[in-house]
Amino acid sequence: MSALDAWKFCPVCGEAIGKVDDRVECPACGFVGYANAVPGAEAVCFDDRGRVLLGRRAFDPSKGLWDLPGGFLHEDEHPLDALRREVREETALEIEPLGFLGFWLEPYDGRVVLCLSWTARVTGEPRAGDDLVELRWFEPAALPEPSELAFSHYPAVLSAALGRNEHS
Ligand SMILES: [Zn+2]
Repeated sequence: MSALDAWKFCPVCGEAIGKVDDRVECPACGFVGYANAVPGAEAVCFDDRGRVLLGRRAFDPSKGLWDLPGGFLHEDEHPLDALRREVREETALEIEPLGFLGFWLEPYDGRVVLCLSWTARVTGEPRAGDDLVELRWFEPAALPEPSELAFSHYPAVLSAALGRNEHS
């Protein structure tokens, strides 16, 4: 199942569109659309004691589960600018990105997100934004179980970040 299967009308002219191989095409105006993965930026944020900051999601998908600060890139936004903006919106904190951890693919709300992940250092008292019920600092040895994490790639991201942090 691809996001393409759910696209029924041309976003330019409103005609019915059809799936052709890996894309949709509009017979009326020639619009062509691809369902590429959607880029997002996220950070495993550490304080000066080595604790990890997670936020509990207020809304679906994954309502009530623990989330890394982050979000989607705007159309013309550098990933690190998106990361700083999203962390600021969700936690009221300024971050210092430390290292790039890698990228993961994650199903999200009918699309696939290309998650770009960093470690970061934050200082100050976090304040939860509107999308979160609460923010909490976790000791690395007392992180939530995988089933309590909002997305399936988080155990791998957290494991990579903790391995990295021990050597920093
Ligand atoms: Zn069209």
